[in-house]
Amino acid sequence: MAPVQERSRCFNFSAGPAMLPDLVLDKIVGELGDYDGLGMSILEMGHRDAGGPVQEVLQEATDCVRHILGVPSNYAVIWQQGGAHGQFAAVPLNLLRDKTQADYVDTGVWSRRAMNEARKFCTVRVCAELREEGGRLEVPPVSEWNLSDESAYVHICGNDTISGVEFLEDLDLGDRLLVADFTSTLLSRPVNISRYAALYCSAGKNLGPAGVCLVVVRRDLLDFALPQTPMVLHWKAAAETSPIPSLANTPPVFSIFACGHVLKGLRRSFGDVGTLDNVKRRTQRRASAVYKIIDESNGFYINKVASAVRSQTTICFTFGRDATVQRQWTGSITDTVKPTDLEEVCFEAHCLDIAADLRGFMREAKQRRMNGLAGHPAFGGIRICLYNGLPDEAVDEVLRLLRDFAVAESGGLEKICNCKVITCLDTCSRSIKAIKEEHPTASPTRSCLEHNLRPMPVL
Ligand code: PMP
Repeated sequence: MAPVQERSRCFNFSAGPAMLPDLVLDKIVGELGDYDGLGMSILEMGHRDAGGPVQEVLQEATDCVRHILGVPSNYAVIWQQGGAHGQFAAVPLNLLRDKTQADYVDTGVWSRRAMNEARKFCTVRVCAELREEGGRLEVPPVSEWNLSDESAYVHICGNDTISGVEFLEDLDLGDRLLVADFTSTLLSRPVNISRYAALYCSAGKNLGPAGVCLVVVRRDLLDFALPQTPMVLHWKAAAETSPIPSLANTPPVFSIFACGHVLKGLRRSFGDVGTLDNVKRRTQRRASAVYKIIDESNGFYINKVASAVRSQTTICFTFGRDATVQRQWTGSITDTVKPTDLEEVCFEAHCLDIAADLRGFMREAKQRRMNGLAGHPAFGGIRICLYNGLPDEAVDEVLRLLRDFAVAESGGLEKICNCKVITCLDTCSRSIKAIKEEHPTASPTRSCLEHNLRPMPVL
């Protein structure tokens, strides 16, 4: 297969599986057919061969995780299957001990998914949730969390990829056991591991391709798994296999092999010392460039997340004209963002071009070879994911698209109706009336006149 650089690559902004660096892909492809000149692929080799290639690959990836994250020796590092959803169940099974309840912070869909799974094993208390204050979405400070001494642990989602809300600092919960879903934030910044009882990260974003979940857990907590814990989710069973951990059953060799390459690539690109400090600097620089355009667009783009918890990796925003649209997600992972009935009507009426913004942006993105920018079906709008594998040129491209689109569209209607305001107003007022009749609960807010008077974004 031709090296990646020679093929025509598009820029993939998807929330996961996310883009892998070209060099990493080339290394994987290069080594896959014949591992280390042995005449066999790593995918054909046994994990029970003590000290053999598969164990070597596993050990090397684990060592890389320990090195990059600075995992203290009193923490086990294991690889399990079942993704983050597996760990949503593994957390209560391994950590409830003699308790029957746990505290969860609700910052979006992924927190709720974790809670739904935990409810199968214990009582779930929502100890804090995302709230809207002065038009901004924020997470209450820990001092306001309603924590219970009867709860076995406190669970947070490090970065909710759907609401775009992220914990940018490691919280200090004292003696309480803090557990974090780090699926979409691990490897974007340094982590003070000792603040956590356990953290887990399903691959598919910064860590590597999907198919495996990394778990880092304090060793003194390994002895408490409930008797009914399935072996594949049992942290101690994975931590204590010999001669190395994570051999409780056949490991997902390809995923771990690929994650190992991603981790080695990170050390190469960002330095062996302070790797994640350097990654963090790049992550912050890229995210703030995107937020700057959103914030200075005069409401053309809207992101309501307070700056203290604004996601640095998954930036979610809607179009200003989309502000009143409430979306419903069926919960199906195959769902895509579709224009709502209201948007369809508006689009047909050329009146409120809410749907036109979404469609127009996506059309333009496609022409510029950018993929994966559609927001999650539960949120709509656009989501720009800035995972580590995304090159800086892709970020420059998307910044250009954001600017060009806002500037072109803020005069959009003028283009459609050639600024015949009277005719346009007339059409619009009739259309709005029709829309209101058809959708009594909807509140279309913009007329052509408002549109034409709207200030141009300052970009
Ligand atoms: N948690 C977060 C924050 C996620 O973004 C995702 C997936 N996008 C998951 C959990 C679910 O991971 P998996 O599909 O591997 O179970």
